[in-house]
Amino acid sequence: MKIAILYICTGKYDVFWSEFYDSCKKMFCPEQEKHFFVFTDSPRIHGDEHVSIIYQDNLGWPFNTLYRYKMFLRIEEQLLNFDKVVFFNGNCVFVDNVEFNEFFGVESKLLACLHPGFFDKKHEEYTYEKRETSTAFVIKPWKYFAGGINGGDSRLFLEMCHKISENIEIDLNNGIVALWHDESHWNSLLNNERSLIEPILHILSPAYLYPNGWEIPFLAKIRLRDKNNYGGHGFLRGER
Ligand code: UDP
Repeated sequence: MKIAILYICTGKYDVFWSEFYDSCKKMFCPEQEKHFFVFTDSPRIHGDEHVSIIYQDNLGWPFNTLYRYKMFLRIEEQLLNFDKVVFFNGNCVFVDNVEFNEFFGVESKLLACLHPGFFDKKHEEYTYEKRETSTAFVIKPWKYFAGGINGGDSRLFLEMCHKISENIEIDLNNGIVALWHDESHWNSLLNNERSLIEPILHILSPAYLYPNGWEIPFLAKIRLRDKNNYGGHGFLRGER
């Protein structure tokens, strides 16, 4: 299997790359062929035979994350050469081996991870986009997924990237930015298309997005580094 790993680090987020890369190279699907695509404006990250650098302007907050699907579509043709495509948030670090079937599922075509803050919460507490005027509005809540990992079979995942990008543009033209940006749009697609998606979706537990410093009932496989140790959210996002 050929796996394309998508990684965005614009602005100050380049601080996370080396630990992500080293841990992912070693522990993620060690038996499979992997290639990393790094969307960045950082002069400190260099390509090699396993890493392609895609120069990406720093779009500011929230566009560095909101426009992630649009970024991926910049290399759509290349991504179609891979069996699987997966995005990881910048501050992910692998802390245990993660095998192919465990991660992508045996017959699944799409991949999502339960949000570590909501796996044990009621639907009413989910922070979906609640404005009916937004394309990210969730009609009937099912599960709350994290934006930190998403992926699947390359063709299907890219179709989803197109759909979400269209929805984001519709919202922007109506003066709307969904509450949790890309995460809200990812959730609306998975929840609103549940009957089509559920049979082909592999759902990861928050073991794969385990925030450092939290105590949740999972054995961590991928940890999220605490951004407070790197200047905090606002600093990293360039808000201050
Ligand atoms: N990101 C980036 N530069 C920024 C802001 C965000 O590269 O200035 C990317 C990075 O990959 C990050 C993702 O967008 O992991 C999500 O950003 P956010 O700060 O929302 O992380 P979260 O709060 O989801 O951990």
